[in-house]
Amino acid sequence: MSPHDVARTARLAVARAVYADVPLYDPKRAPVELDLTDNTNLWGVPPTAERVLREVAPSVITRYPSLYAADLKQALAEWLGVSPDMLVTGAGSDDVLDSAMRAFGDPGDRVAASIPTFAMVPIFAQMNGLAYTGVPETADHTLDVEALLATQPKILYVCTPNNPTGCVTPLATLRALATRHTGVLMIDEAYAEFAGVSAVQLVREFDRVLVVRTMSKAFGLAGLRIGYAIGQPALVTEVEKSRGPYKLTSLAERVAVAAVRDDMAWVQEHVALAVSLREQLAEALRARGFAPLPSGANFVCAAVPECVAVGQAMRARGVAVRPFPALPHIGDALRFSVGPWPLLERCLAAFDAAVAEVLPDRAAVVNAGASA
Ligand SMILES: *Cc1c(COP(=O)(O)O)cnc(C)c1O
Repeated sequence: MSPHDVARTARLAVARAVYADVPLYDPKRAPVELDLTDNTNLWGVPPTAERVLREVAPSVITRYPSLYAADLKQALAEWLGVSPDMLVTGAGSDDVLDSAMRAFGDPGDRVAASIPTFAMVPIFAQMNGLAYTGVPETADHTLDVEALLATQPKILYVCTPNNPTGCVTPLATLRALATRHTGVLMIDEAYAEFAGVSAVQLVREFDRVLVVRTMSKAFGLAGLRIGYAIGQPALVTEVEKSRGPYKLTSLAERVAVAAVRDDMAWVQEHVALAVSLREQLAEALRARGFAPLPSGANFVCAAVPECVAVGQAMRARGVAVRPFPALPHIGDALRFSVGPWPLLERCLAAFDAAVAEVLPDRAAVVNAGASA
């Protein structure tokens, strides 16, 4: 029985009504030899973080963690050039997003976001009894600003670079949204390190802008669950209330502090590598007659017909990428996480074989192009 089936059959009379349609998250991530579905860091853990992890004293485990991760806020504040009271942490940025929705949304309030975007956002909205409206992006993969504002949301969520497209929303657009939107603007920067641009400066101009970030992607620490957000003190205090104390484990906080203080060179080096390989992967897809979207993240998204079948055929060859069926203006698409080139070569070989099997017409075009 899949988690979905359990959720469907085990409805309890005592369950909250708003939870009736909340699915358990199931991104179909069955173990596979090469997993390029979740955009985590395929180069591993930064060296200082790994050393701290190995040397941790038992007392770190037996005692309770800090209440609100003051040490991590201090380390992040020094790195980002903000004050510690402008930061809130959480068990992954998922937890920060969820806590923020709970902090600012009264039951029934609206959350709006562009489509496509991060799959967890409508789930967090539902989990908090909020109404969710998705607004399809424009044909050139930018936000439909007028349509988003017209939904009059209490919370407006923007992901940049956007997951799953990789497209970056310009700072000017974000500033315009922050100016006109009367509620909270949540800017999810899970992949900002790979874009080399950030909206953090907007939190100084606007007291309703919350920039949410994570150590799960560029920092290679997804399993430890470390996320944070930046905003004006009054704003982050509300998120902190909703998050509650003791949310970050002692282990996670120690490792995160070490990574922020001493692993930045490693992180930057691997971000640069990921960016260069991202362009190499995009070029390889173009050479095969596909049209990857411009990406500011550590993944590449390209329209691929029959994406679910192609994904399954790749999985049968030991490689997983993430299919996104029927995206607006894009159609079926595959999202490829970027990692070391030998892994991407293996991925491309599986992709070629899958295309030959599922889309023989496309494969013929590719071969004709290659021999021309
Ligand atoms: C991966 C991802 C996150 C979150 O991750 P955590 O591991 O919970 O920090 C948040 N937003 C987007 C858009 C992501 O892709």
